Formats: sequence, C-alpha cells, structure tokens
Amino acid sequence: MSTDRRVVALTGGVGGAKLAHGLYRRLPPGALACIVNTGDDFRHLDLHVSPDIDTLIYTLGGVENPATGWGRRDETWTFMAVLEQLGGPDWFRLGDGDLAFHVERTRRLTAGERLTEVTDHLRRGLGVSAAVLPMADAPVRTIVHTVDAGTLTFQEYFVRHRAQPRVRALEYEGADHAEPPPEVVAALADPGLAAVVLCPSNPLLSVAPLLAVAGMRALLAACRAPVVAVSPLIGGAAVKGPTAKVMDELGIARTPEAIAEGYRGVIDALVIDPSDAASRDRCGLPVLVTPTLMDSTARREALADEVLDFAATLGRG
Ligand code: GDP
Repeated sequence: MSTDRRVVALTGGVGGAKLAHGLYRRLPPGALACIVNTGDDFRHLDLHVSPDIDTLIYTLGGVENPATGWGRRDETWTFMAVLEQLGGPDWFRLGDGDLAFHVERTRRLTAGERLTEVTDHLRRGLGVSAAVLPMADAPVRTIVHTVDAGTLTFQEYFVRHRAQPRVRALEYEGADHAEPPPEVVAALADPGLAAVVLCPSNPLLSVAPLLAVAGMRALLAACRAPVVAVSPLIGGAAVKGPTAKVMDELGIARTPEAIAEGYRGVIDALVIDPSDAASRDRCGLPVLVTPTLMDSTARREALADEVLDFAATLGRG
C-alpha cells in the first residue's frame, strides 16, 4: 500500500528503526516524519553522541550495521586503535565514519544550531528524505537506578555494564523542562496526517522518555490521526536487548495487555504478533494480530502496510 497522506513514527533505536524503514520504503518521499528518543544521548570524549538518532539515520540511509545493531557497516577502526594505544577510554566503540557524525554534530551544536537543525543536516547528508526529529532540543537523560551498581547514566548501564545490573527505577532527567521542538509540534498538528505509529522500541528505555517530554502526550491526544502502537514483544519475549529483563525487574508482565496499559491515554490501537494472540481480547482497545518479526526488508514493508491499512480503519473523534 502507498498513500499520499503523511505519517509520523515515534521511535527509539534498532527495533523502532526497522519499522520506520518499512514505512519509509512504502511511503512517498517526504511523507514520513520520525520523532526520535534522545534520552540515550550523552557526552563522550567531549562529543555529543545521539545513539538512537544515528541508528535511525543509518538505517534509513542504508549504511547501518546489521551484525552489531549499532554503528555503520564497512566501518574502519583506526581512531579506536590509536585511542586504545594512548590509554584513552575504550568502553564505547566509535568507528571512523561514525566519529565524523559526532564531530560534525558537536561542531554545529557549539556554533549555536539546535539539535533539530543539526540532525536535519546529517540526515540530508545521507540522502534520507524522511524528517528525523529529536523529541527535544534541550537535554533529557534516561537515568537508571540499579540495585547492585548504583545510579547510572543510560550508556553506562547499557554499554559499560552490558545492561546487567538489576534495575530498581528509571528517571527521565530534564523531561519536565524540555519541550517538543516546533518541528515536532508541526508534524503532529499536520491536518494531512494519516497515522501516528508508535514503533516496537523498548517501552521503558526508548518510548517512555519520549512520552515524558512535557507536552508530548497532549500533542498526541490533540492530533487528528489515530495512534497505533506495535508491540515489541513476540511470544512474551523481546526480540533483542534488555526489554524483557527490565520489565521483569520492574514487575511489569510481559504481555500485550501490559503494553496497552503502559500506553493508555496515548494509543488508540495495538498491533501484536500471532504468538501473543491469546491476549487479543484483554487489551481493552482495537487489536490487529499480524506477524511482527521484521527479519527482512520485505517483512518490514509488509508490517508497515498492515499498520497503515489498520490505521485507516480507525477513526478519531
Ligand atoms: P534500542 O534502543 O537499540 O534498544 O532499540 P529499541 O528501543 O528501538 O528497540 C528494542 C526493542 O525492539 C526490543 O524490545 C525488541 O523486542 C524490539 N524489536 C526488535 N526487533 C523487532 C522486530 O522485528 N519485531 C518486533 N515486534 N519488535 C522488535
């Protein structure tokens, strides 16, 4: 299916970027705008690193590394090798091409550009025609309070500690004071919007920070198009990453109804995998059951079509 109406995708990193890629390939150029989590952003080697934004730009630009799930394909590692030789911090791997993104982002931010403007420049550089919109220009930082390793920034938790410490609580520092940039406001207020797709990203570590940005929930509530979420669970398990572990540690059931409950007041409908179909009638909102594993480009496109067709059947008063 293709449509001449516009679509907004809300996304974190790898899982969300796969569906955003499917939507990108099925929609006309310029029809897709992605609002991206920046709660994982951090400063490293005095550079501003935006992991989820870069994962999305690399995926839409066709240069992502499917083997690692982060960074670029066909990367070289001279910078990292020399940094290690010099005894510099080596826990966060930066390939040479990836490094150019962080240097250029930092240079432009230092010169006074907003993160939204810088991100727009970077996605154009890779020839990406979708709008890539940070959820906020001001910093929002996901903080992970753990039982066994104290309080960690997201990257310390995720990369340095390999998501192993037990999570006690999550905090989205700065979210109360950040606001959606004007580009995000305009994308969600677009009268030609056909659907808002909440991609299958980690609900607690990628989507929650996005929804915590002051005013974001109100913008979604006011928007004319239906908001449809795709569950990141398949058969009660996560495809990849710490989603299931963190849900367990925070006492959240790994079920579609728990996903629907967590997104209550934000979404109008939910898409779940056939392996979770038993939950269909317990979600309390319209549910589409369709295969959601995106292990090929064809499956990303097929799911994008299903989600858009489903959204077209949903009204919003
Ligand atoms: P991260 O920031 O790189 O961890 O990535 P995200 O937050 O965007 O996504 C992590 C989530 O994506 C996990 O909960 C996975 O279960 C989910 N995910 C990854 N691939 C798929 C897929 O093919 N289908 C579905 N339904 N979920 C997926």
